[in-house]
Amino acid sequence: MNQTLSWQELKSPVQYVKGIGPSRAKTLAKAGVNTCLDLLYYFPRTYQDRTQFSLIPFLKDGEVATVKARVVSVQETKPRPGLHLLKVIISDGRGRAEAVWFNQPFLKKQFASGQEVIFSGRVSRRFGPIQFSNPDWEILDEDKDPLHTGRIVPIYPLSGNLTQRAFRRKMKDIIDAYAPKVPEFLPPSFLAKFGLMPLNMALTQVHFPESQDYLKEARKRFIYEELFLLQLGFALRWKEKKTKGGISFKTEGPLTEKFLKSLPFKLTEGQAQALEEIKKDMRSPRPMNRLLQGEVGSGKTVIACYAMLVAVQNGYQAALMAPTEILAGQHFMVLEELLKDFSINLALITSGMRKNQREEMRGALKEGKIDIAVGTHALLQEEVSFKRLGLAVIDEQHRFGVMQRKILKEKGLSPDVLVLTATPIPRSLALTIYGDFDISTIRGLPVGRQPITTYLVNTSRAKDVYNFVRREIAKGRQAYIVCPLIGSEEDENLAAQAALKLKEGLEKEVFPDLHLGLLHGRMSHQEKEEVMRLFKDNQIQVLVSTSVIEVGIDVPNATVMVIWNAERFGLAQLHQLRGRVGRGSHKSYCILLADPKNEDALKRLDVMVRTNDGFLISAEDLKIRGPGEFFGLEQHGAPELKVTDLFSPETQKYLEDCREQAFFYAEEGQGLFRKFPLLSAMMEERFPFNSQFAEVG
Ligand code: ADP
Ligand code: MG
Repeated sequence: MNQTLSWQELKSPVQYVKGIGPSRAKTLAKAGVNTCLDLLYYFPRTYQDRTQFSLIPFLKDGEVATVKARVVSVQETKPRPGLHLLKVIISDGRGRAEAVWFNQPFLKKQFASGQEVIFSGRVSRRFGPIQFSNPDWEILDEDKDPLHTGRIVPIYPLSGNLTQRAFRRKMKDIIDAYAPKVPEFLPPSFLAKFGLMPLNMALTQVHFPESQDYLKEARKRFIYEELFLLQLGFALRWKEKKTKGGISFKTEGPLTEKFLKSLPFKLTEGQAQALEEIKKDMRSPRPMNRLLQGEVGSGKTVIACYAMLVAVQNGYQAALMAPTEILAGQHFMVLEELLKDFSINLALITSGMRKNQREEMRGALKEGKIDIAVGTHALLQEEVSFKRLGLAVIDEQHRFGVMQRKILKEKGLSPDVLVLTATPIPRSLALTIYGDFDISTIRGLPVGRQPITTYLVNTSRAKDVYNFVRREIAKGRQAYIVCPLIGSEEDENLAAQAALKLKEGLEKEVFPDLHLGLLHGRMSHQEKEEVMRLFKDNQIQVLVSTSVIEVGIDVPNATVMVIWNAERFGLAQLHQLRGRVGRGSHKSYCILLADPKNEDALKRLDVMVRTNDGFLISAEDLKIRGPGEFFGLEQHGAPELKVTDLFSPETQKYLEDCREQAFFYAEEGQGLFRKFPLLSAMMEERFPFNSQFAEVG
């Protein structure tokens, strides 16, 4: 028989693996195990270390322990009809204990006095004799290593009718038979560089570790393997994007110079650094593919605006895309303000526009009369064409998905791409999700910002909260009151109604003497602008709104953010909302009015109270929701990591190692896969979303 298994053999249906019939195969399929390879990679969920033997007299009630002893006698009783009791009395020379099994009469023939056995399980010593109830057991056999006791024992994530004991036995036979024949697919130089265990050994040790050290090394190998495969896909994708011809922009010029002078502040160090990175990419003849992340209020918009001006001053157009019409509208307002003294043609293109108006806009875009177009991803739709699109800025990547980038590609355009995200994530996360991007992070906030104090208050105490609002307004400050999400997030009609009702109630009952304003997504652009202007001028003191103010609103004099039924909002959204205050030099507050009824909601609110750090908040959010929901796996095609724990302290180093190596090996392109043919197969196997790029030369 062939010594190493072929790819075909590895991919053969699991039911043909010796010892796994159609029935077991069915159970395994439910756990996602379909092939022989899947089975070999079906790792234990956890392990129990049963290598340390306890002495019977020292066993403590309630502990899980392992003892090695001799069988003294085997007793069988039927205390009442339908109940069978098997008792095995053991002695380790120091003390006696008994193991009991209920209704498993067939076990009786396994035991005989004088046998050496190992029992492992929970100890009870409350009722007279020291007792193990239904323990794992093993009869010691000089020729065979113990499997279920006396070693580090694997516990599998089993479901269905497979018992740990039976499955463990099967796995042992399978691993013994197959693991030595599995071919290594990682480059030997990669393994050598990090001193990683070869695949055969790692498979054996991850299932049936000889020691904790071996287990650790085996797991480490699989983590490196997983991260390397992931990063290799990213590296190839990155490389593919970079091989296309891009635009080599001049990054300095009259427009950008004027823009910097027009700002009433100096860029922060974090902004300046991010801008340098962006400018470097824009100067390069390779297309930019960069993600810009930063805390709420860290000043990403200004940086994106600079980048768009670079495109314009080189005679190109720029597009700014947001995930919703409301956000697009807000971006437009912010840009209008930033560029009000520039003779630049800005256009907001929405699906809400009248048909002839939209057609006119499209025409202007096509003829190059519009310099900067703001809109939703509708901007990328078929009928829309640019004369010379030089830069696409995409806001809020996590709601976008790879789709839009694909559309750009299919239009045959290779503009520079800058993605903005207001959900900053720790570098280790960023590298696993945005691995095909270069990443810039704006650290820190502009000077003079004071940390916002956040309170969680029961809705029954809304009156006290309103009194607090009143005191701030007496000091000359302003407040936001955000009304709860009703129905789906996108249903602005309902939300608008609720906001109107809340405002009318407050006007009548609570703040009859103050100026209240209303803002929601159903208002026209002009109406919104008018309200915003009044709020900016402090002619509106309390602004009641839906969550539309999530981004883009910038009124430094506002110091209170009250969020009704805060438990209905996600963490990222709460953090964004809170970011509307604390933008000036005054001390600011965020008050979460909520009666959280479930644990997740309470956790979210607690995170908000505890920290203002957006990086920490997104990490917590990820922990609470899990990667699937957090990243919106399906639409994003984000990777599922099986062995890597993103929150473990070593992960960062492992990731950096693998990323560096992946980019190094990716340089070889197709040559790499010719040398290591199984490498691309494994990449496809583990991260199908990346695999289409394995073809890239
Ligand atoms: P982000 O988009 O990152 O949430 P913005 O770009 O909206 O942040 O900026 C937040 C506020 O801070 C805006 O009012 C902006 O004008 C202001 N700002 C930006 N950069 C600076 C800076 N370097 N110093 C002071 N204020 C700044
Ligand atoms: Mg912004």
